[in-house]
Formats: sequence, C-alpha cells, structure tokens
Amino acid sequence: MPPKKKTQQTAKQDRIANKPRASKHKQSGKIKELFNQVVFRDWCKACGICSAFCPKKVIGHDDRGGPVIKRPDDCIGCRFCELHCPDVAITIIVRDVESERDRA
Ligand code: SF4
Ligand code: SF4
Repeated sequence: MPPKKKTQQTAKQDRIANKPRASKHKQSGKIKELFNQVVFRDWCKACGICSAFCPKKVIGHDDRGGPVIKRPDDCIGCRFCELHCPDVAITIIVRDVESERDRA
C-alpha cells in the first residue's frame, strides 16, 4: 500500500507531538542551536500572523503578506510561528549542521 499523504490535520498533530530537538553548532566559541523555517506555500494564505509573532524578526512579509524568511540564523526554535499559523503552513526543523557541512 502506498504511504498516506500528509494532510493538514495530521500535520497539526505532528507539530504538537514533535518538538524540534536541539542541534548544537559551535560558532565563534559559543554553542548555538540552528533551525530551518519551512513554508508550505500551497497552504499559506498570507495572513501575516507568523511574522507578527516571531520574537526575533526572522520572518518578514512580502507585499501580499506572505512570509519571507529574512534572518534564518536568528531563529531560536520557539515555534511561535508554527503554533499560531491557522493553516499549518509553516514548520520549524532542526538544521542538520553536520550534513550541510559535508555537502559544502
Ligand atoms: S501564519 Fe501561516 S498562513 Fe499566515 S502567513 Fe504565516 S505561514 Fe502563511
Ligand atoms: S521558531 Fe520562533 S524565532 Fe523561529 S521563526 Fe518561528 S517564531 Fe521566529
């Protein structure tokens, strides 16, 4: 049987259950956790809530209110954007620093 396609409902359940785990990255002598912000454009209705809730101003918005990731490295993984998005259209994942380094 083919794997089930992820719906907004199952994505919502996943985001509550799966808090991102800390990924630690040494940067100029300090340990810093890094995260990626993933926007599902098909589900996003450009309401601007995610950018309004982001305490670190990681997310800005374009002319239509759609999210623009402006400062990804400043993300602290608080998930305010993810938890307040009414359409489950943004998620925060731990950045895999090791594999990114391997690809570079
Ligand atoms: S809160 Fe969700 S729907 Fe609204 S702009 Fe952000 S990603 Fe899009
Ligand atoms: S997890 Fe927090 S800091 Fe990161 S983009 Fe979302 S609201 Fe901003």
